[in-house]
Amino acid sequence: MAKPKAEGITLNCPMCGELAATFNLDLANLMLRCEICEDSCGAEFARDAVAAQLARWQTVFELVAHAAERFGAVLVEEADAKKSKLTGA
Ligand SMILES: [Zn+2]
Repeated sequence: MAKPKAEGITLNCPMCGELAATFNLDLANLMLRCEICEDSCGAEFARDAVAAQLARWQTVFELVAHAAERFGAVLVEEADAKKSKLTGA
């Protein structure tokens, strides 16, 4: 029986910053290899790096929410609507 081929996972890379990097799991050492920078990391490192980035964005979100509360949320909603059109989100 043929060995199943692992499908690549598309995620942002914590090492090179590529937003749509494809990762392949090396079953020999359980490291995830980015096809863009060809660097490898463990899932725990990647999760922690992304969590740290998310924590920084949370601070920015709170600053923006505070500013929106003070100056009006309309500007934030208009900016996000424009961004969604650009990203297709
Ligand atoms: Zn990378």
